[in-house]
Amino acid sequence: MKIYSDPRLLALGIIHGTAARDSGNMRQPENVRTLFDALSIPPDKILRFKQTHSCRLVEVSSLQQMQQIRQAPLQEADGWVITKASGYGAAILTADCVPLIIWNEQADVVALAHCGWRGVAAGLPRQTALSVSRLNGGGRLYAWAGPHIQSCCFEVQQDVAAQFPGCVLKKKGKLYVDLNKEITRQLTSAGLHETDIALPYYCTCGDRDHFFSYRRDHTAEALLTFIYRP
Ligand SMILES: [Zn+2]
Repeated sequence: MKIYSDPRLLALGIIHGTAARDSGNMRQPENVRTLFDALSIPPDKILRFKQTHSCRLVEVSSLQQMQQIRQAPLQEADGWVITKASGYGAAILTADCVPLIIWNEQADVVALAHCGWRGVAAGLPRQTALSVSRLNGGGRLYAWAGPHIQSCCFEVQQDVAAQFPGCVLKKKGKLYVDLNKEITRQLTSAGLHETDIALPYYCTCGDRDHFFSYRRDHTAEALLTFIYRP
């Protein structure tokens, strides 16, 4: 069972990461259960939501608010910002989109966002960082992204390329978007230091052995990225 994670966040005792495809398709609830069992994550403490490639973030800063969300039907959102006071954690599904985690110095505010290219173009990484910053009172922030489609495979047409000025590569007459470059630009504009942003180069589309990829396979198989404070 391979899990991609960030050593800085592990050192703070936060269970998190992206499970590689050897854990199976995470749209199957039994695969999620098996993963969470292995990591001692209580499934009833993990928030899920209805992902819509939007820019909608939900901030949860009290246990009461967390319990209300747990009891309500799944809401449409693409990012969660959760404080220590609210307990719990969150999980998202991806298959090429960027699973982005942002946290403050002690990880008592953590965010998990599902950033598709539409979300990135609409400014979701920056909005997520600003939200963590607001709940944290403006201290130093850190970021990490799990495996997602990289510029080697993210070929686009002119209409999409036009939404990523300065982040488009041309190779043999084709256009490719570098999402990492745009995410770095947004996070630094929200106050993060470039050296505190880790965007490891794992390409979901290019590495069939480890990842599911919608662009490559056109199936609904998905990876899970999760975060939980024990
Ligand atoms: Zn690739």
